[in-house]
Amino acid sequence: MVMTKSKPERRIEIDLDWRKKEEGFHEIVKKYPGVSPFVIIQIDVQRRGVHYSAEALGRLDPAIHQVNKPHFAVYEGRGVPTSLLLRDGTSIIVSETSTQTRRDPYLIDVVDGKTVLVDEERVIEEVEYWEKPKFFDKTTSRGTPMRQVIDARPQRYSVSMSNYCHFWTTPGHGCKYCGIGAGGVKFRGAGDERFNAQDLSETMRELVKEKGRFVGVILTGGSIISGAEPFEDELDGYIDALQVVGSVFKTRRFPSQVNSTAFTRRQLERLYNETGLSSYTTDLEVFDADLYKWICPGKAANISFNEWKQRLYDAVEIFGKGQVNGGIVSGVEFATPHGLTSEDEAIEMDLALAEELASHGVGLKHDVWHVVPGSIFFRQNTPSLDYYVRLTKGFYEILRKYGISTYMDNYRKCGMHPNVNLDRI
Ligand code: SF4
Repeated sequence: MVMTKSKPERRIEIDLDWRKKEEGFHEIVKKYPGVSPFVIIQIDVQRRGVHYSAEALGRLDPAIHQVNKPHFAVYEGRGVPTSLLLRDGTSIIVSETSTQTRRDPYLIDVVDGKTVLVDEERVIEEVEYWEKPKFFDKTTSRGTPMRQVIDARPQRYSVSMSNYCHFWTTPGHGCKYCGIGAGGVKFRGAGDERFNAQDLSETMRELVKEKGRFVGVILTGGSIISGAEPFEDELDGYIDALQVVGSVFKTRRFPSQVNSTAFTRRQLERLYNETGLSSYTTDLEVFDADLYKWICPGKAANISFNEWKQRLYDAVEIFGKGQVNGGIVSGVEFATPHGLTSEDEAIEMDLALAEELASHGVGLKHDVWHVVPGSIFFRQNTPSLDYYVRLTKGFYEILRKYGISTYMDNYRKCGMHPNVNLDRI
């Protein structure tokens, strides 16, 4: 095995004793025999991040793979894989190679001719780089690269309905874990704040030529407060985009999901009735009213915690049980100075609210928190791997208890949420 000589420049120091303070990957795999090791790998890699050896980067072929420009100068301007895929089809989002906590990241290296995930010089598992769809190399008639119009994961493609979140307009209102606006990146008023219908239409027509490549689409974007009623412009944006996307399908409803701000019942009815949308997600991000106010102040200033929950319940009545999810950025509940300090208390808190949501038919999903440079929470740390596995099991068991299908975000459609991935065993 050839270890990389240069490692990513770190902006926060590693706690050299972190491995003594928590159970590691191999201990957790033994401790939870009912949890797929692939799911545990997915969690831990997202939690700790990765870096690449020169040999691993040599395996990256821009003609085949999706390539990102890394944050770190150490790669000397070379692209890095957009993300990783495990043998069982589990995706690991390692966007921007920027996740940093006080733990050292995994290494992607080449060992015995295979591209592998390595920790402490021990091979953990084989990985693949995400392949790109054919439309990525094409441009629209306006000259826009199609890869900028529609993004792609292995299973599904995604449309950014808008490129700006209005919460960042009010100082202090951006979500504290979010890297979009904290670094001063603002697109409001720019020509590309909203998607371009012509670009989207042309890219969709190109995309569907790759038969069997994708099983669905997700549309998302920043929160848009403006409009005749709060968030009405955001709603109109999704309706317009869905009508363009839906124009390539022969059926009225097509496999699709919107992940947006929580809309009112009237807005949700418009979204359902005026488009072919089949599923809907709106994320509370954190399952406690006080932490929600502190961590997501823009959301809380516009929609109270209880009102957000009510809108999720309304969405279940409109889209149906199994077609509505509400999620959290798991780990931010420990952010200092106002977060929890006990993992047991956090599990209790998260599972209590998860049960309340599920009892109304709302599906559960959690993302593993990437500590993103440029976010307000950049210097924070994530909880233990044990915590994440407990949460994953807890969410999954609640879904089973309330008979909520995982179909809308399963590994064939999304695969990003560890608790949903448990459905495969
Ligand atoms: S709603 Fe929060 S997480 Fe989403 S883009 Fe806006 S600030 Fe970021």
